[in-house]
Amino acid sequence: MADVPVPRPKLTPQSAREATAVELHVPKAVLDLLDTLWAGGHAAYVVGGSLRDVLLARRPHDWDLTTDALPERIQELFPGSNYENKFGTVAVRRGGDEYEITPFRVDHDYADHRRPHRVEFGGAIEDDLARRDFTVNAMAWGAPAPDDVAAGSRPIRTLVDPFGGTADVDARLLRAVGEPTRRFEEDALRMIRAVRLAATLDFTIEPATLAAIRGSASLAAHLSGERIAIELERLLTAERPSVGLRLMHETGLLAVVAPDLAEQPGVPQNKIAGEDLWDHTLRAVDAAASDRPAVRLAALLHDIGKPQALTEDGHFFDHDRVGAEMAAAFLSRLHVPRSVVDRVHDLVEQHMFSYEANWSDAAVRRFMNRVGISALDELFELREADNAGSGIPRQAGLTELRRRVAEQLEAGVALSLRQLAVNGDDLIRELRLTPGPHVGRILDDLLDAVIADSALNDRPTLLLMAQSMLEDAS
Ligand code: ATP
Ligand code: MG
Repeated sequence: MADVPVPRPKLTPQSAREATAVELHVPKAVLDLLDTLWAGGHAAYVVGGSLRDVLLARRPHDWDLTTDALPERIQELFPGSNYENKFGTVAVRRGGDEYEITPFRVDHDYADHRRPHRVEFGGAIEDDLARRDFTVNAMAWGAPAPDDVAAGSRPIRTLVDPFGGTADVDARLLRAVGEPTRRFEEDALRMIRAVRLAATLDFTIEPATLAAIRGSASLAAHLSGERIAIELERLLTAERPSVGLRLMHETGLLAVVAPDLAEQPGVPQNKIAGEDLWDHTLRAVDAAASDRPAVRLAALLHDIGKPQALTEDGHFFDHDRVGAEMAAAFLSRLHVPRSVVDRVHDLVEQHMFSYEANWSDAAVRRFMNRVGISALDELFELREADNAGSGIPRQAGLTELRRRVAEQLEAGVALSLRQLAVNGDDLIRELRLTPGPHVGRILDDLLDAVIADSALNDRPTLLLMAQSMLEDAS
């Protein structure tokens, strides 16, 4: 959603008398929330990344509001809203979307380079902006608390920009608010956010901020896997994640966060002249579609095993299997959901699959069964990305295999036990078997036979085959 362009707003004064009033085009739901807070006697602003995105004519993927009302008061103004966390954020649902309203806040006591240990509500809007990470994220648009809300009075909304955020939006620069090294020492995640925002927004990191990241990169070791994973996931949605991944490497963040990937630069790869394994990985990530997060993640990790698997004669022995384990270990450290870890593991493990034009339909079905139906599409996408990363043009063989797989799927052929025309209960009942593991073994053999010849998949045939399997075994 973030990359759908919306018209660039005009920052023109409304009238000479209200010289600083600024009109921005924000959704009606957001204006209504601001109006409710203001009519309740409170300051109310759109703030942070959502305002930055409005100024960039990007559609924000979430809306953050801030106010001088305390959480209890916000809840009072929005019945049914949810008080979320110790940072005071209240979530309000409107028309299926969620809006986050957070009281003005000052953060204190950053003891472990992660989160503040004490937050204090209150202060002025400028204090709230000062705790934020980058100048472009440290602006607010809205109105201060009304002196008194007369019937029919309207708030005059202005842009509050104490750190030069609009100028940095125009120059497309990420600049830390305040002294960058101190800000990264407070919370090391800001360094990874800088890289992620540079990639997703197509911004440059301002030199002093970049130098501070280089100097403080080792502090990223204090971060929790979950917080790193959120930023990595967002980085991988960029049009060209390579921009951020190169920054990760050049700043030293990659060596801290993903040491195995940091081994890739300099490892030779005889694919594109003058390029190494890291260049290949980055090309593959960029080539995967941005709306395929699992494929992008798998592309990033598909050759993670290569440096370790490099033999003396320059081959990569078993790098797919080694890499699958390493990828799973890396994602587990980031506490990525188990389902994603497994999916990426399998994609990395299978990414070296081969295909010959002389495969029979049964061979195509065996391949489908081996990969698993739900993983096929992503595996093909990964191979396309891997090829693109090696400078290999679209391969006719791969296109043909995709077509043949689609044909088999269309024909509804059986590839799993669930699709067999008999199940364990049928065997037990019809052949008077006692339940046990031998029933499963017969079913597996029947499935093998059906994958080889789909015409066998009807009940009487399979029961007959099971019967003769039993006789052969006895
Ligand atoms: P996105 O467009 O991806 O949502 P964002 O900048 O809005 O990017 P969020 O994680 O939604 O990122 O954070 C909202 C705002 O909160 C930021 O714009 C910034 O002002 C502030 N913020 C978030 N994380 C930090 C942090 N670690 N340190 C300081 N301020 C932060
Ligand atoms: Mg946001």
